[in-house]
Amino acid sequence: MLIIPRHSVISHLLRPLVEAPFRIAPERAAELLDLTKRHDIVFTFDSASQLNVPEPGRIVFGACEAERLWAAAYAYSELLAIIEEQDGHPGSVIDFTVDPSRQTWRGLLSWAMRRGVRSEDDEWPLHLPKPTPEPQAGTPMRAATEWFLTMGGWMLLHELGHVVNDHFSRSLVTDADRHKCEYEADDWASAWLLDGWRSYAGGSDERVFAKRSIGAALALCVLTSWEVYDRQGDCPTHPDPAKRLLHFLDRFVPESGERQARITDAAWYVVMIVLQFHLVNAGRTVQRPEGYRSMREYILDAIHAL
Ligand SMILES: [Zn+2]
Repeated sequence: MLIIPRHSVISHLLRPLVEAPFRIAPERAAELLDLTKRHDIVFTFDSASQLNVPEPGRIVFGACEAERLWAAAYAYSELLAIIEEQDGHPGSVIDFTVDPSRQTWRGLLSWAMRRGVRSEDDEWPLHLPKPTPEPQAGTPMRAATEWFLTMGGWMLLHELGHVVNDHFSRSLVTDADRHKCEYEADDWASAWLLDGWRSYAGGSDERVFAKRSIGAALALCVLTSWEVYDRQGDCPTHPDPAKRLLHFLDRFVPESGERQARITDAAWYVVMIVLQFHLVNAGRTVQRPEGYRSMREYILDAIHAL
């Protein structure tokens, strides 16, 4: 059952969102369908809920986080596009004010970074961009929606990872027990998305791997971005998002360390940009006078500065 809230600006994306786990790794769609049937699971949406597994058989995405996810997807795709247009490279300074007509993504990101549950004054800021139905290829809208669905699909797979690994019947006593389950669910979702990518469309186009790995990294990056403004770190139920992000990068896209970047470096590059943006935005500087030998070194410093 898909309950679509009448007033949500992302109503038209809710069906694609709950179908995203099947679409982001199409080569495994039939396998995923079998798996969901075996565990009697449906992906669904409930505006009043948060992303979770409220009862056996339902993996639910909620409105509050879905809206914020799209807003972050829009902002991050604009951020990356502007850096590319200004030929950004390590050490270069990017001027986000060059084009005054292109500032709305920053307002939308500020809104998305506000923590907390939906409240009266927390509705989508209607003067800022919102997703349009069927955006044209090559537009910022289309890019945002693609990232939104890739991130959201990975997040739903994470919840399925809890079900498949039988976490709900485990006795979870300590924080460490619960954290272990979170890492297992992350790893299950990432492996699902990345392990079989070469079975898709001939397996020679590395952009497929880049899109999937960046999508998973960005999903964890959104959680880590919140930490810049409201540091929570380890919680009883969940490990520090920054540690989960680094764990994903190390395990699934280990940095090549080569002068000529490899495709596994793409996710590191995106994470580095997003964290740097938020830290500068929050008035914090992360910089070693001697520079960084690797992106991992920078990301460690950035996590330290959260
Ligand atoms: Zn989880």
